[in-house]
This record gives sequence, C-alpha cells and structure tokens, in this order.
Amino acid sequence: MKRIEFDEQAYARRSRSGPCFICRMLAGDEEFRHEVVYRDEQHVVFLDRYPTLLGKLLVAPVAHRRDVIGDFTAAQSAALWHTVHRAGAALQQVVPTERIYLQSLGSHSGNSHVHIHVAALPPGVPYEQQQTAALLWESAGLLDVPTEETARIAARLRAALAAPPAAEPSADGPAPAVREFTEQAVGRIASWTDVSWARPGSRVWRATGAEGGQWYVKIHRGARFHQREVRAYRTWVPGLGAATPRLVAVDADLSAVVVTALPGRPLHGAVHPPEQQRAIFHQVGALAAAIHRPAPAAGPDDTLSAALEKMERHLDAARTHLAPGDADFVRLADLWAGRPDLLEALTDGYGRTFTTAELEYLTVLEALDAVSGIQYGAAAGDPELLERGLRTLTRLRATAEAAARREGTT
Ligand SMILES: [Zn+2]
Repeated sequence: MKRIEFDEQAYARRSRSGPCFICRMLAGDEEFRHEVVYRDEQHVVFLDRYPTLLGKLLVAPVAHRRDVIGDFTAAQSAALWHTVHRAGAALQQVVPTERIYLQSLGSHSGNSHVHIHVAALPPGVPYEQQQTAALLWESAGLLDVPTEETARIAARLRAALAAPPAAEPSADGPAPAVREFTEQAVGRIASWTDVSWARPGSRVWRATGAEGGQWYVKIHRGARFHQREVRAYRTWVPGLGAATPRLVAVDADLSAVVVTALPGRPLHGAVHPPEQQRAIFHQVGALAAAIHRPAPAAGPDDTLSAALEKMERHLDAARTHLAPGDADFVRLADLWAGRPDLLEALTDGYGRTFTTAELEYLTVLEALDAVSGIQYGAAAGDPELLERGLRTLTRLRATAEAAARREGTT
C-alpha cells in the first residue's frame, strides 16, 4: 500500500489549537467524523484517521478524561482495558497480524482526551522496521488507505465487535445448587458458558441441553432485583410475544431464573448505520406501545410537581423502582438527543408523538434516573451506570443553558 508524506506541523497546529477531536466526534460534528466501529456507555472505538499500520484503532473513554491513571478508578480502568482487549482481538481477526501493539500517548497541550492506540504489526516486517519504527509517521510514513478499503475494514471490525465476547464453554458452570435447579427445570445440561457482563457481580450463563436447546440462567444481585425481574416476566413480558424470552423456572432462595434463548445479537456495543438505527428505534417504539397498552396510564398523568417531589425524595436515597410506563423512555432519551430522526422513528413505532408535557416530564425523570444511577453505580462499582448518569446530567445542563440563552436574547 502507498505511503504518503504527513504534514506534521499542520497536524500539531490543529491538535494544539482546536477543540477535543474525540468529544467533537462523539457530539456528531461532521468535521471530526471517524469510522466508529464500537460504542457503548463508557467507550468508543474508531479507526485512526492517520494510520501508519492498516486498521489502526483508537479506544477512548466517552468521558473527557486526561490522565490514563489518575482520572480512572480501578474499575473504570479495568473496563477500558477490557474494551482494548476486545478491540485488539477484533483487529487481529480482520487484518494480517504478527503482533498487536498498544500505546497511550496524548498531551495536555493538545489531544488530551485519553486514547489507547491499538495497532497490528503485519507478519514479515524486518526487525529494524518493527516497534516504534512501524508506528511513527517519521519512519513509517502515513498509510494511504483507499476509502472503500477503510469502509470494508470498518464493517468487518464492527461485525467482530458486535458479537458477544467469546467465551469458552466450561465444565464448571454455576454453583451445584443452581445447576440442580436448572436441570430440574429443563433436563440435563451438557455445557455451561459464562456470558456475564463485564461488571462486578454479573452472573449469567448460557446452558446447552444434552438433547439440544439453549437457555439463559441468571443469578440476580439481590431479592429486590430478582422480584422486579420476575414480576416483569410474569406481568407484561408475555404481551410482547415472540420478541421476548419466556420465563421457564424461578428459585427465590437462589435469586435465580431460567429463561429461553432468542436468536439475534444484543444491541449493546453494536454500531449500526443511521437507517438501521431508525428501524431499531421504530421497533422499540412498537414494543413500548405493546407494554403500555395493558398497563394502567402512568407518567404523563402525574403532575410535574409530583415528579419533582419524587426527585427530592430520591436525591439522597438510593436507586428507585420507577413505575412501569414512567421510565421506559428515560434510558433511550440519551440516544435520541441530537437525533430527531431517531425520536421520530420511535414515536412512529409507538403510534403517536409525545406531548410537550410528556417531554418535560421525561426531562425530570431523566435527571432522577441519572442521580440514582450515579448513586447506585458508585456504591455497586458499576462504572457504566455512573458514566451514563454523569453524561445525562451534563447534557441536560447544556440543553437548559442553551434554552436560557435563547430566552435571554429574544
Ligand atoms: Zn474530549
């Protein structure tokens, strides 16, 4: 592949005087667009615009953190490196790789947002051209990758990263009592695969039956979570039909459930083109409508002051149960912020648009949910919840300030 001269001085000027390129990219600024191949609550993975090696990736926290050690708790750091590991594993599936290189550089005078470089050294590079020589623009030169090739690599990386993290079936599986409970419900289990989320305390297994069939076995973190999920499975999940798993067995003493497996991939971490995103939001709207139809009217009928009172009550308390209907859209609001097309797709699927009062009510619930998430995330060591809470509050503040400025000028 062709290599080109890199205008390092222009690059240095831009990165030292310009805004944070990662924050601008995340805000959807066209000028800072990159090929994003993975995105979740805490992290984003995207192709380096100035690669010296094919498929070179950058992994960054969504939050603008400057110090790769001091600005991360141990749990946040572990979560970042978990994503780096997944990015490296995906990269070596997609481009010929002899060895994966990792680097964390950046400068407080420019490019201060923490980002980890993940690069693949191809096989057969002579020793003197390996390591820093392969990574530096001065020695390696900038790789001139045709746009179609970049798009092709990005698509393959997205597919590799959308798949749930590879997990080996293990003979161990869950504790004997949980295995016994599962086998009583669905028959002998031939293999157990740990598919827990990458956060402390998550315990989920995929169980494959000796005579075929697959189930998920989940241990809840406490009686309250257990009761909430079981109640959801029994009350409104059946109304969603084939789109949802079916509850097969419950053990309150173990806080465990067995549910059926569904085909498809989780949306968590997946990056889809805008058209597909709209289709997903449309489907979410339709599912929400199916849940709300049999449920008693809630949320919009409450008054704003009641919601504010509720928020006051919960500010110093812990995470709350939100009544069904209240909060279903709260977590999504973060995703449709700045994307009117996604809100439109959602309300289209839902069957009607939201009223101004509902949208205002939602803002209050969002603040409440964010504060609860920060409180709970900090207490339970769940950085993803913490991150989302902080980001939601930042966005709500920015929106409110912009509105106040508009009022001030008219
Ligand atoms: Zn930033």
